[in-house]
Parts: sequence; C-alpha cells; structure tokens
Amino acid sequence: MKFLKLVCCCLFFFIQSSPAQLPVSLQKVKLPGTTEYRDIYVSRSGNDYLMNGDIIVDQHIKKAVLQGNTPGNYTWPKGYIPIEIEDSVFMFGFDANLYSAIEFLNNNTRAKFKPRTNETDYIYVNYMSTMELGFSGGSSWVGRQGGRQSLNLSTSSYRTILHELLHALGFWHEQSRPDRDNYVEILWDNIASEDNKHNFQLEAGTPNGSYDYLSIMHYRSGAFAKEGKVTIRCKSGTTLSDCPMGDLTCPPEI
Ligand SMILES: [Zn+2]
Repeated sequence: MKFLKLVCCCLFFFIQSSPAQLPVSLQKVKLPGTTEYRDIYVSRSGNDYLMNGDIIVDQHIKKAVLQGNTPGNYTWPKGYIPIEIEDSVFMFGFDANLYSAIEFLNNNTRAKFKPRTNETDYIYVNYMSTMELGFSGGSSWVGRQGGRQSLNLSTSSYRTILHELLHALGFWHEQSRPDRDNYVEILWDNIASEDNKHNFQLEAGTPNGSYDYLSIMHYRSGAFAKEGKVTIRCKSGTTLSDCPMGDLTCPPEI
C-alpha cells in the first residue's frame, strides 16, 4: 500500500524516556478472527488505559482491539482528519513540531489533516504533563473512534508526534503485528522488568504488506530493555547492524 510504504520509509523511535512503570492490569479481550477471549495487559495513564505503551483503549478495549485493519471501519472518510489543538499545546511550544508532522503527512500520504470546523469526529491534541501521562511521550487511540478523541503529548518530539498521529490514522505497532514472530524475536529475558513485558503483546488485524523493520511504528531494538541489552532482534541470527530498527533517517530530525 502506497500510504504505508511512504510512512514506513522512515526509521524510528518510540517512547523517549526510560521504561514507564505504570500500574498494569489484565483484561479479557476477543481478538479478530477468533472466538475466544484472551488476556490483554493494559497500563493506567491518567484516566486512560494504554495497551503496548501508548495505545489508548480505556473502557472500550474490546472495540479498540477488535477493529484491526478492517477496511471501512475506524477509517477517516476520504482521508480527511479534522484536528483541533488545545491552547496548552501552543503554550508549551509543541505546535511547531506538530505542524511539521502534519505537513509531512499531508505532503507525503493521502491523509489530509485539516483544522476542525464543525465535524463530529475529530482528533483533539492536548498537552499532558509527564507526571499525568506517566512517561515522556504520547498516547493516542488507533483509528477513528467517533466523536472527539484525544491525542496526548507530554513531549514536543517530532518523531513522537508523528508516531501518535499515525496511531490516530489507524496504524498499530509494526513489531506487534500478528505475524511478527516470523520476522523478529522478542528477547523476554532482556526486558527491564516484569511490568514492561506487556508492551510486547500482539495487537490486532491482518498483516498489511511486507514486514517493515524500519517503520516509524516499530520499536527500537532496545525498547524497554535492561541497560546495554536489546529486546528485539531479527530472526535468522542476523546481527544488529544487519538489521537496524528504530534509527531515523527519514524524515530528518527536527
Ligand atoms: Zn505507539
């Protein structure tokens, strides 16, 4: 898919800071294409529940996870995404990188973000303190939820903002797609703590296109790792230098 390829020419980053230590709880979720509920760990962030670090699922966890990549559901009609920006985003100086990320997506994909006028469904970007969010980064729903949906930022990082906007568009994490175990190996013993293992849960939907190690939606190889360790490596015994993840070359750092 052209859109995916354009986006995934980028390397990436994920959550900037050290692994978050948020309260974690277990919920029963039925994944797409299955009839059985499965245990999904979620962490608490402010009034939200987060899956895999930054995906808001809140009380609608079944809805969020069930959506997968099903065409026609949770997508933005004609690619238009109305967006409203809270004053606090400007107050804390996050607006420059936010506009840069929006401009990048508008210029390089078929998605068209535009200022909200009176649309019912829209993204509401707001500043959230690191303390309230629980870490330095952001959080977002995946895809159009209906009504106002928050996209929270506790950092002005360009890459974080771009990553969260892509969640809002409908993208999940690449390293958590259902067939990821064919491409990468999760080194569970290298994860910093038990409380961080939930960040590597499989997500939803049908794998879309070839596996993209360099996607901006892919964790770094050292995500949530003990110091000096890696938590994700390519299969087939490749070395890290043969299979980079999470370094950014496109778009350029701002
Ligand atoms: Zn994410």
